Amino acid sequence: MERSTIVRVHDGLHARPATRFVKLAKGFESDIELIKMDKSVSAKSSVKLMLLGVKENEEVTVRATGADEIEAIEALIGYLEDPHAGTADEASAEARAAESAAPVKSTVASADTIIPGTRKIRGVAASEGFAIGPAFGFFPAEIKQENRLLSQDEISAEAGRLTQAFATVQRRMDASLAATDLAESDRGIIAALKDIACDDELTRAAEALVKDGMDAVSAVIGATSRIAADFASMDDPYLNARADDVNAVGRQICLALLGQDDANLDAIPSGAILIADDIGAWDLARAPLNRIAGVICGHGGATSHVAIIARAHGIPAALGLGPSIHDLQEVKTIALDGNSGDVFPDPDQSTADRFHAQIGAEETERQALKAYKNIIPKRADGTIIEIAANLGSLEEIETAQEAGAMGVGLFRTELLFMRHIHLPSEDLQTETYMKLATAFAPDPVIVRTLDIGGDKPISGIDFPDEENPFLGWRGIRMCLDRPDVFKPQLRALLRAAVHGNIKVMLPMVSDIGEVRATRRLIDECAAELVVEGKDHRQFDLGVMVETPAAVMIAPMLAKEVAFFSIGTNDLTQYIMAADRLNPTVAKLNDVTHPAVMAAIELTTKAGVDAGIMVGMCGEAAGRVDLIPAFVKMGLTELSMSPSSIQRAKKCVSELALG
Ligand code: PEP
Ligand code: MG
Repeated sequence: MERSTIVRVHDGLHARPATRFVKLAKGFESDIELIKMDKSVSAKSSVKLMLLGVKENEEVTVRATGADEIEAIEALIGYLEDPHAGTADEASAEARAAESAAPVKSTVASADTIIPGTRKIRGVAASEGFAIGPAFGFFPAEIKQENRLLSQDEISAEAGRLTQAFATVQRRMDASLAATDLAESDRGIIAALKDIACDDELTRAAEALVKDGMDAVSAVIGATSRIAADFASMDDPYLNARADDVNAVGRQICLALLGQDDANLDAIPSGAILIADDIGAWDLARAPLNRIAGVICGHGGATSHVAIIARAHGIPAALGLGPSIHDLQEVKTIALDGNSGDVFPDPDQSTADRFHAQIGAEETERQALKAYKNIIPKRADGTIIEIAANLGSLEEIETAQEAGAMGVGLFRTELLFMRHIHLPSEDLQTETYMKLATAFAPDPVIVRTLDIGGDKPISGIDFPDEENPFLGWRGIRMCLDRPDVFKPQLRALLRAAVHGNIKVMLPMVSDIGEVRATRRLIDECAAELVVEGKDHRQFDLGVMVETPAAVMIAPMLAKEVAFFSIGTNDLTQYIMAADRLNPTVAKLNDVTHPAVMAAIELTTKAGVDAGIMVGMCGEAAGRVDLIPAFVKMGLTELSMSPSSIQRAKKCVSELALG
């Protein structure tokens, strides 16, 4: 019996949703296959399922044969049609999300290139920060295939040994998962490794090789390297990185077969830089992480589990150095710049001094600024100056809260649209905005409606070729032309507003008609929600002031909206007619130019005169050299990257004092 459906599982059958699907399938005794195009795999193997690469909105068929086939098909089709299937409360799903939102600045620099003279090796910048310390090489002996041919009467004992080895590794992983001091993000990663260790596809492939007369170690290496190669060839960086995981699990099984304990990092001295060719997430998650000052690896990239663990623990890391990692085995001291991926083996005195100074200065400032986390900065007259965070995804909430953000001054919704192969549904958007609002309630969360244009297209919207995309069909212009895209976002915002203090702002406004047209759409959405009986609440509507036109009509706009937020990034480029992405005109793209500062002042005055809040969410809002001027002009909200929050709070507080 079989049934076809369109997969609605958010992001497709990746990682966690795949393993949950398998768990569900294993609960039925029927043989179950999942078929995509002309390819069919067992629905009881998460490895196979992931390799099938089923994406959201693709058509698949579930085929079941057995006594409980009707129930199986019903349950599995239901799962596939549920957008949130497999994602609830799963740490590894969070880990995956953290990966895609990871603040990695550069992708690959040229790995494996020693720059002569400077003694600098460049890898992938995988976790930011500076580190310098003694090198600690971790190069466990490679386990080689024995390629021993078994005689017929050895086969069954060898198969038994193999089963035992799988069980041992699964037990070790269970023990690690049971540890109470394991960080949640690391727990998710170990759980994902355990899924691989328990996978039918892997066990069956290794068993088949043993049955053919291959020794168990060679069989495990053969099976894992084949599966790893499949992952490595997928057209998806996340799945590519899983190849390292499969190899790491294979190594553990081989060690269990050989009766060896894995080499571990217990001996790493405090402040050391760990150097490895291919450290597994399993090794790193169990290591004394508080002693590790930095990580350098021959393998891996920004989305590998090692990178995620390093980022989660604030350990600078450069990965993917390639074979040149072996040149570092004899090195005594390493300086590592996790922002650029640069590694300096045995740095000369001036490089070492530079690193020590950088680390020292960063640490001293970080410690001193912590005192400002919970401060509510006020102007001399007692008016609160809200220091809020600019966010692009839910994964950044914790960092913003830890920094002491007094709400969100700009939630860029573009990432939500760009992350998916299709436009995000109203329900998915509602859930996202709701989580955001709940996390910061009662503080305000200002969500910016979709600000996308020809320079940053997304699937689901066809952008015309434009000579000047920055002057073209972007932001509110596109949204008003596409109510099929805009209305679900407005409906989602109305629904989410029930759960917190949501405010909404429109990007790229240059005409009052754009505000009025949006209001009409909001009313239309609210009326629909009433008819549908869906809970919702009206929100404050504001505009970003980022076009010269908006500045010129600011007094009129101020009468129509609840607040202004000045977008200095765009405002500067439009006032100065200097492309914000063009380095040749970077000198002109200067927010401190009197023309831009005058535009900010005009806008603020218009807002203050009309009695509405005026904030700023462009990069300039976090500049301590400009904050005094902005506060003096009358701005009462400054929204910035979380890393600037405590410095800004200090600046405003000192202003009031002096
Ligand atoms: C701005 O233009 O200042 C702004 C905050 O928006 P973005 O940088 O996303 O265009
Ligand atoms: Mg802008």
